[in-house]
Parts: sequence; C-alpha cells; structure tokens
Amino acid sequence: MTLSNAAAEILSKLGVDQAAYTGGTLASFSPVTGEQTGALPEATVEAATTAIATAKQAFKAWRMVPAPRRGELVRLFGEELRAAKDDLGRLVSIEAGKIPSEGLGEVQEMIDICDFAVGLSRQLYGLTIATERPGHRMMEQWHPLGVVGVISAFNFPVAVWSWNTALALVCGNSVVWKPSEKSPLTALACDAILKRALARFGDAPEGLAQVLIGGADVGNALVESPDVALISATGSTRMGRIVAPKVAARFGRCILELGGNNGGIVCPSADLDMTLRAVAFGAMGTAGQRCTTQRRLFVHETVYDDLVPRLIKAYESVSVGNPLETSALVGPLIDKAAFDNMEKSLAEAKAAGGTVHGGGRVDTGAENAYYARPAIVEMPSQCGPMMEETFAPILYVVKYTDFEDAIEAHNAVAAGLSSTIFTTDLRESEMFLSAAGSDCGIANVNIGTSGAEIGGAFGGEKETGGGRESGSDAWKGYMRRATNTINYSRELPLAQGVKFDI
Ligand code: NAD
Repeated sequence: MTLSNAAAEILSKLGVDQAAYTGGTLASFSPVTGEQTGALPEATVEAATTAIATAKQAFKAWRMVPAPRRGELVRLFGEELRAAKDDLGRLVSIEAGKIPSEGLGEVQEMIDICDFAVGLSRQLYGLTIATERPGHRMMEQWHPLGVVGVISAFNFPVAVWSWNTALALVCGNSVVWKPSEKSPLTALACDAILKRALARFGDAPEGLAQVLIGGADVGNALVESPDVALISATGSTRMGRIVAPKVAARFGRCILELGGNNGGIVCPSADLDMTLRAVAFGAMGTAGQRCTTQRRLFVHETVYDDLVPRLIKAYESVSVGNPLETSALVGPLIDKAAFDNMEKSLAEAKAAGGTVHGGGRVDTGAENAYYARPAIVEMPSQCGPMMEETFAPILYVVKYTDFEDAIEAHNAVAAGLSSTIFTTDLRESEMFLSAAGSDCGIANVNIGTSGAEIGGAFGGEKETGGGRESGSDAWKGYMRRATNTINYSRELPLAQGVKFDI
C-alpha cells in the first residue's frame, strides 16, 4: 500500500472527509518516501477572521461553564485519543517520519496532558492574602482569558497542540489552531478526534476548537487579531522574531516555544555507559529534529578518549532507514532543505577546524526522501555553526579542562531550552542546577536533554522565548488573574494609612 493510501485509510477511519485533503492547493508529503499524501484546501485570511469571531462567541459561553465540567470534555478527549492511539501514532510516523515508538509516544504525551488537565480542572486555585485593613478580605481569582491562537511546528505535529488545547479548554478558553504546513494531515486527524469528544460531551458551543490549514499568512491573521488574547507559537526563533513584536504591539500575550541549542557536560566521575546511551538517544533520536535534541557536548579531558570513540562507533553503526518498514532507529529528515542545511553546517564546521564523523545521504531507494547518517563533530573549541541550532542530527563535541569554563561555554549560546550534566559528584551536579549553573529552562542530571514529561513546565530562556507550557503552573499563562479586595466592615480605612476625610 502507498503511504498516501495508508494515510487516507487512517483519516477515513477517524472520520475525516476526503474533501479536506484532496483537490486543494497545499501539497502534503511523507518524508518517509517523499511521496505526496494530500492536496489540502487552504484557509484564507478571511476564513481565519471568521473562525476567530466564532471562537470569540464560543469563549463567551464556555467561560461560564464550571471548570470541572470543562474538564469532562478533556476527559472524553483523552478517551478518544486512547482509542485512536495506534492510528494517530502511525499517521505521525507517515507525516513526520518518526519511528513507530516515537509516533506512539507523541500520542501518549497527548493522553498524559489530558489526564493532567482533567485533574487541573478542579485545581485552578487562587490565593487568599492577608490584608492590612481591618474588616477586609483580599483574594485572587483566575479567570478564562479568551481566544487562544496556537501556531505549531512540524516536528511535534500533534503533541504541542494538545498541550495547549487541553489546558486552554479547562481554563475556559476557545482555541484556533494553525498547524505547520508540513504536517496538515495529522492536524485534520486531531480535529476529528476532538470532534468525537465534543459530540459525546453534547452542549459545547460551536467553534470552541477549530483548525485552520495554511501557511504563515494564516498564522499571521491570528497574530494580528486583537480578538486573539494569547498566541502560543512553537517553531523557529526566526518565526518568533516576527511574531513576538506584532503581538506585543497590540499588547496581546505570547507563549513562545522557539529553537534550542542544547548542551551537556560530561564530568570525570560520569557513568560513561549511561552517558553513551543518553547522548545517543538525545542526539540521534527523531533524526535530530527535536527542539530538545542534544547538539553540544563538553567532555572532560580525562574521559574524552573513553567516551568519544565509543560515541563515534555508535554513530557509525546506528541504523538509518524507512521507519515504517524497518527497525531503524533513525528516520528521515523532513525535506531536502533540512538535508542541505545539515550538509552546509558540516562544511562550515570543517572549515572552522572540526573533524566530522558521519553525515551524508543514506540511500533508501526513494529519490525524494532525505535520510542522513547522523554526524558527530569534534571541535577544537565552541565556534562557527556550533553556536546555532541546525535542525538535523549533528552533535558537536568539545574537550574541557576546567568545570567553570565548561559551564560558561555551555551558557554562551543564544538559545536556552534544555541542558544536562553527567556526573556522580554531588558538588558538580548541584552547581550545574544552581543560579550560577545552566541558564536553560530545563536542566537535567544523568539523563539526556530530550524526552520531557508533561508534569513539569516546558520551555526555555533567552532566544527560546521564555514561554512555559504543559505541567506545573503553566496553566496560569492561559488565564487572567484578578485581585479582589472586599470590605465587610462599616469603616473605610485606606491602605498605607492614607487619610482622605471629606
Ligand atoms: P517554523 O518556524 O518554520 O514554523 C513553525 C510554525 O510557524 C508553522 O506553523 C509556520 O507556518 C508558522 N509561521 C512561520 N512564520 C510565521 C509568521 N510570520 N507568522 C505566523 N506564523 C508563522 O518551524 P518548523 O521548521 O516547523 O519547526 C522547527 C523549529 O521549531 C525548530 O527551531 C525547533 O527547535 C522549534 N521547536 C521548538 C519547540 C519548543 O517547544 N521550544 C518545539 C518544537 C519545535
């Protein structure tokens, strides 16, 4: 069966009308074989404006539905996702090229956030705060915010939307989603799965959760609309640089989840077997196309010659190939442009004095599919392309002598998403996690940079954008806070002892 037929079969099973992915102008492809999987009708900017208006109306009704009842919708959504897990996971593999366990893992992440959000629907707590005025009470409440515009990237085509949507819905918001133009079929599938939950739920307002298929112009319609209270944008720092000032200009809110250039430090006391496995998954998993992919490694001089040759060997032997037909651990890059970027960065690294092991195209017989052998590059120091995120499986390795210098080099790049230290020395790990350590939103010890759980807040600092999604108290980003002071006395004392007697 061709992949376009396989995709059509899944979409039909999930209830997506064929007209939603045939006869249109947006061509979708599978990176697995390079074949075209659909031609989707695209939303116009006018259609986006209408969708936002409908979502605004839906918000007005949804905000008054008690939060635990809103949680019931998300509970049903989680049930539908459990039922659709195998199909959706396979569609993620077809459309994003992930190996099956990673495709399924992404859907599991959607289920996990639903579970989390259902619990949260009974825990949208505000504080009661001591007041200095007698006979007064002060408290804060968290209220729904409005329409949430979600713009997402190709590499987590379904999970990122669900992180935002599950939280936004229990928080009382409506959602309009602009998925990546490189992964529109999975977006249609998600929309159909949520619609099943909405049908079972019964009385949710029309337009509560919508999807707009299209490119940057459709995303821009969300960004510029004063009726979109929050833009949650996931993608490159380049995109964030365009989106953030536009949202700021209209005093809208942003959650930015942008690029990463994630580093790690391997200390003299590291468990090298564990380090090898963690780095191999972190750097080569998902063909290096995770925002949290391990891209830089600082290895202490005393363990460099033990670890790095073993890593090079792993890079030479890792299986690269069609993730749907073989048991390969590394699947394809998303497209030719991604492969060309990888080759360009490797050439620049070489010119900067790096020794390149690996890289180059792996022939799978599919002319329009781009499989690359992951590359490990020994650099004389941190410089050149190592300073930037190349969205491909390249790991730069640098030898270090002094721990503080390694932390400084680790923090010297513009992005600040994920980081890790491999050590069994308490002093080193605590230093890495301290205020003077890693400057990233995620800092790990003895695990890789990728593979976060939904329970923690997810996001990064500096050019990663500062946003937080998913667990912990990230829900607060989807609500507005009202501070309320109530006077139940017969007096009117003013704060700070101010007198104003008329
Ligand atoms: P991209 O920036 O090319 O596109 C992301 C989304 O932004 C797409 O939906 C695109 O249509 C939209 N977009 C682009 N320009 C826009 C504009 N001017 N206005 C409105 N919308 C616009 O990113 P990509 O290639 O799909 O994904 C890879 C990048 O995403 C990497 O840099 C990766 O690190 C990053 N990423 C970050 C996270 C995170 O949580 N920090 C997660 C996944 C991916």
